This record gives sequence, C-alpha cells and structure tokens, in this order.
Amino acid sequence: LEAIAEVAVDLRLPSLKLYHYKVPESLNVRLGQRVLVPFGGRVVQGYVVGLPETPGVADLKYITGLVEEEPALSPAAISVARVMADHYIASVSDTVRCFAQPGTGQKDDPLITLESEPDEALRAADLLPASQRRVLEFILGAGGQCTLKELVRELGKNHLGALRALQQSGTISKSASLKQRVSEKRTRVFSAVADTERLHALRRSAPRQVQVLEILCLEGEMTAQELNARAGECRAVVRALIRKGYVRESSVRDFRTPAAPRWKSGLVPQLTPEQSEAYRVIKQADRPVLLFGVTGSGKTEVYQRAVEDTIAAGNSAIMLVPEISLTPQMVRALTSRFGKEVAVLHSMLSAGERYDEWTRAKLGRARVVVGARSAVFAQVPKLGLVVVDEEHETTYKQSCVPRYHAREVAIWRGRQEGARVVLGSATPSLESYYKATKGEYEAVFMRTRVDERPFPTVSVVDMRGDGPKLGIVGSTLRDALAETLSAGGQAILFLNRRGFSTFVLCTECGYSAKCPYCSVSLVYHKARGKLVCHYCGFERAVPDVCPNCAGRGIRLLGFGTQRAEEEVRALFPSARVLRMDVDTTGTRGSHQRILERFENREADILVGTQMVAKGLDIPGVTLVGVLSADTSLNIPDFRAAERTFCLLVQVAGRAGRGDEPGRVIIQSYNPEHYSVKAAANHDYHAFYTEELINRQTAGFPPFARMVSIVVGATSDKRAEAWSRRITELLRNKGVEVLGPVTAPVWQIRGRYRWMLLARGPLDADILAPVREIVESAERYTNAHDVTLTVDVDPLNLM
Ligand SMILES: [Zn+2]
Ligand SMILES: [Zn+2]
Repeated sequence: LEAIAEVAVDLRLPSLKLYHYKVPESLNVRLGQRVLVPFGGRVVQGYVVGLPETPGVADLKYITGLVEEEPALSPAAISVARVMADHYIASVSDTVRCFAQPGTGQKDDPLITLESEPDEALRAADLLPASQRRVLEFILGAGGQCTLKELVRELGKNHLGALRALQQSGTISKSASLKQRVSEKRTRVFSAVADTERLHALRRSAPRQVQVLEILCLEGEMTAQELNARAGECRAVVRALIRKGYVRESSVRDFRTPAAPRWKSGLVPQLTPEQSEAYRVIKQADRPVLLFGVTGSGKTEVYQRAVEDTIAAGNSAIMLVPEISLTPQMVRALTSRFGKEVAVLHSMLSAGERYDEWTRAKLGRARVVVGARSAVFAQVPKLGLVVVDEEHETTYKQSCVPRYHAREVAIWRGRQEGARVVLGSATPSLESYYKATKGEYEAVFMRTRVDERPFPTVSVVDMRGDGPKLGIVGSTLRDALAETLSAGGQAILFLNRRGFSTFVLCTECGYSAKCPYCSVSLVYHKARGKLVCHYCGFERAVPDVCPNCAGRGIRLLGFGTQRAEEEVRALFPSARVLRMDVDTTGTRGSHQRILERFENREADILVGTQMVAKGLDIPGVTLVGVLSADTSLNIPDFRAAERTFCLLVQVAGRAGRGDEPGRVIIQSYNPEHYSVKAAANHDYHAFYTEELINRQTAGFPPFARMVSIVVGATSDKRAEAWSRRITELLRNKGVEVLGPVTAPVWQIRGRYRWMLLARGPLDADILAPVREIVESAERYTNAHDVTLTVDVDPLNLM
C-alpha cells in the first residue's frame, strides 16, 4: 500500500479535477505543502490538499520534490478552498491559490532546459529535421536554457511541434518556473558585547570609542543611522570597536510598511446606548451578526471595540472594506487606534510591501488586517473576527476566476475557524437582510446618528414638470446650487452611469420599457435599432408614441458625467468644479488627490459617479444633488431597484456630516417609484417589504439561486450553437433556463459571447446539474475553441 497525495496543480486549467500522485518514501509529505509534480510532460508546482487513505489508481506518477518544508496552507484554508470550489463550480487549484502567499505562484511561462551535453547536442543536431535543429540551436544559443515565451517570440508558434518532438526524445525538458520569492529586506544593527571592566581599559586611550560603546550599552540594538544621530558621524569608531570585539554587527528583518502608521491614539469615545448594545450582541452572538446602522450612526467605533477585544484575547481580526482607495478614513481610524498592529493589504501596494504586510500578519506581528476583497484570505495565526463593512457593496464579488463573494468566504472561514463574523451596512443587501429575518444571521440595529445629528432633508423633484428642455439640471436643483454657493457651502452632484446602457424613457409620464417576462429594463441595441431584454431575449421596437400616456415624450437616455460637468460650468461660470469618474481617476492616487482638493475647499462642486457615494465624510458639504435617479432604475438588472435605493441612501448620507444641516435633491422621472420614495424617507423597511414581494413574484434571489453561463467563441454561430446545446442539456435535467441571448457585451477581443441564466429554487440543488454539464462539456469545448464562463450567484450580468 503506497501513500497517495491529492494535488491541486498550480495551473489555470479548464478542468475542475484534482490529481493524484504517489508519495515517494524519501519524502515526508504533509497537507498544505507546495510540491513539484510531473504534469503534461513537464514539472509544475502544486499544493497537497488531501492525503487519502484509500489506494488510488495503479499507474500514478510520483511527486518529484518539495518546494519547501513548511506547509504553505493551513488545514482550515484547504477546507474553505474546497467549499469555495464546490459552491462556485471552480477548481480547487483556483481557490487554493487565493490563500497562497503573494509572490509565491508559478509563472505560466515554462522553462525549457537542454538535457544533454552541448557538444553531444550539436553533433546530434545534424541528424535532426530542420525545424528541430533550429529549436535546439536557439536553446544552445541561450546558454542551454530559455523560457517558452522567448522561444515562441523568436521562432514563432509553428516550431511547437519540433519542441514536442525534442522533449519526447529526451533532448530537452520543460519545467515550471517558480516566481522568485520577493527578497526580504534586512537592516544592519550594532550591539555592545563589552563588559564594564574592558570599558575601563579603553577609557583613557579612546574617548570616542567609549562614548559610542556607552550609548550602545544603554540602548541595546541600534542601526547605523540611529547611532549617528546620537553620537555624530561614527562609522570609523564603530569599525574599530568591531575589530576589537567590543561591538557585534548583525542584521534584522526589516518590514516594508506601505504607510508609516500615524500612532496618535486619542481619546476613545464613549459608546452611545445603541453602540453598546451592538457591541454586546457581537460579543455574545453564536452566528454571523448583521449590524444594520444608518449612515453616520458610528459603526466604525463598534468595529474597533470588537477588534480591540479580539486582539486582547490573543486572536487576530480581518477588516474588509469595499475598496481601499475609497475608504482612507477607515484605515486611518484603525492605524491611529492600533498602530503597528495593522497590516494593510490591497492591490496598489508594491510587491515587496504586499509580501511584507502579508508576512507580518502570518507571523502574528500585525493582528489587524485591513483590506479589500482578497484580504479575506489572509493567513493569520488565530482568526477571531472578520468584519465585512458595507456588506452590500458589489466590489466584494470577484469578477474573474474564482468568482467568489468575500462575504460568503468570510462566513465559511468564520464557521471553519470559530471566528465571529460581523456584516455591517446602512443598506443591507436583500439577501443578507432576508437571512437575518430567517434567523440565519443575528440582526442588531443602530437607528440614530452620532451626536443626534439630524438626517438631511431629502426632496424628490418630479422631472416630468421640472425637467429642462436641454440638459440635466432642473430649476429646483439650479436654485439650490446657487443658494449653496452664495452661502459658501460645497455641493456634490451625483450621476449613476453604467457605460453600456441606453434606455427608453417617456419624459412626460416617466414610463420606461420593461420586459414583460423578467420585469427588467429593456436595453436599446443600436445595431438592431430595437429594445432587448438581456435575460430572456425578448425584443420590441422603440415606440414612437408612449404606450402609457400616448404622448410624444419618448426619449433615448444615457447621460455622462462629462456632459453634466460642462452644464454645471456653463450655469455657474464662477464656481470651481471638479469631476470624479473613471476617466479622471485612472492613475494611482488621483482619486485621493481629487478628494483632498475638495476637502480642502479648493473646489465648490464635485460632479461624479458612484465613487463619490462611498464613505466620503466632508463636513463642508451641505447640498447633494442626484442628477437622475432613472439612470440607475433602468440598468438592465433585477437588482436595479435595490441598487437605486442603496445609492440614493448612501449619496444622501454624504450631506450634513458637519455642523450645518444637509439638504438632498433627487431628480427623477419616476418620483413615485418605491425605491426613490423609501430612500427619501430613510425607510429601509418600506423598500425591503415591497422589493421582497417583487423578487418572490419574479422568482429572483433571495428566493432563487442563479448561475450565469457565458459561452464564448471566435465565431458567433458556434457560440450560439453551443449555448443552445447547453441550454437543452440543462433543461433535460429539469433546470429552468432563461435565454440563451447575446450577452450585453456581445463581442470582446474578437470573441462572440452568448449568455444563459440557470435558475432554481434554493432547496433544489441546481449547482450539481450545472457542474455536471460544465465538466462534460469541457472535453468538447476544448477541441472547438469554445470557452465557458460560469458565475454562481452573479451580481453583474454582462
Ligand atoms: Zn408617457
Ligand atoms: Zn425578459
């Protein structure tokens, strides 16, 4: 009976399978270790994710070696990775990689190495076909080793056959090239080894040496820089001391921290009664807690108390924020309270910083990890708490493989590692709130704002009467802007803009075209000149006359922030206007610069997309204008009403954070829509009740599970044929399918895309049949240049 290891190979494969290898007796293979295994004619890196007891298949290959002795993954990480793979129909290889230390992956560019002596290879080359000879000569020219990419760049893809032949004959080998570990930064330090007796002996002959030595005796370890600062330039003196054996030189690991924490540890504020209650519930809960606190209710302080408790108990905490660059205030709050205990993880860090921050967390030197989505995978010694702030945010869902939702991973980790999980929001996702009403989460409410600041007054302007003939700023908003500017206040103008969607709206009665089957907005397709449902494919012509009021107010709408900015500049030539959208925030730090300028009152009006809605806390802002609630109400998504409600509440929450009361103006052609009305009244419950009924009627989450499958191919016909085939296979298994339809973004980089939506009630497992079909389709799709993109619980249907 031989030992078998289950290995997740570190390659992006279309297959969902795990592979089995025999463990050679010479190796002590443990769970979570990185190993080297033969795969498809070369050696690659993999993770040991199982050591099954049962003997596997007879003709298995052997693990060829260990990458390192210490396991890279904890058993808990492996179990969560397996749960993720199951739920998201992903491979364990892809989910395991999420937990790995940054910078320890495998390059997808294999290394090609000459296996025979160069002289011998040269002699043999004469007998080879021309193409093999060229490959061999190239490798020899490169010193016996090159990467696959280098070879293809030089010789072209048509030499791949020759490469394979050389590999088969054993002349060359292909192996994984592992990413070099980021080098650890070290700093030299000096310490005294002399005793007082020897110090006396020095005293007369070398006063400078004595001075330096005394400082070192007093301070312990010091860097050259610190020593120079205390004793003046003393490099030569230190050298002399080292020679005499009075001072020892050594080096210590120096961690690169992205931003020197500003430790100012001010007064810890007293909790309000609501905050204390929330804190108490979190401490005692036996399941995830949904902390439902209105904007400005002081959720951050509650999180901080929970974090404090966690580290006091010797555990670590992970704090997730939707997007690190949009939430500088949260990071500031944590670093000022917890100083060097905070490690920040996000994609804007340099490789070295990322590596070091991750390591500090892993070693337990930083027990508070704060970061975006992927920080949920941080390997900390004892996980005691995971906070998901603004849990409703869509940025928690990863849009590429594996398509996980960080909130769900947080909950799985919490369960696996016995950690408390807190989900915080002023506008919880419908799914989370529904789970709270069912008892799956424990809900705790914070309904009042800190310091009893009043909610801003929100007025909804009916654009059917107020709308300008041209442009987007109505008269009410124009007057309010003029007032704010003359009173020296600041204003934010907000426009939800999702690039692709142009929709139809009647400017006289507010009618917008919806699909009769899916109740989502129809999108205008320029090429076909028609309105199309992106869920089921229903289409109709653009009406000339409004089907609702028989008027002639039908317009194709789709505004941009740039146009809004121009209009505001034209209306208020003396006002200083800033714009914040994807165009103006492309470079690193530009987002921060715009906000800082606005915060420093270098501008009066900030025009922007949803970026301005998140977490911004600027006391000078007394007016917030929503240019058009309709752009968000008409995104072709069953969550359009939820997104609208959520955005309006978040945007409104930006007003009146200082001493001045705030005012919010929402412009809409649908002022009666329940999401607009509920947002204006700060009434989540009214919104939730109505939206829940609609979801139930239409059969959408939280009452159903959905899986989107996008079929891509270089030919539109093939993509369509495959999407129809998969639809049929799923329907034969009793799964309901919407579509197939052309995906909203039909063509990307020369590939055509068709989409279908599988849907089923929560208690009927639709994941199993979908997985089965994806696995069986793999074999065929590989050969036909067809790709399947599977997204379980999709948040964005593109
Ligand atoms: Zn109308
Ligand atoms: Zn439809």
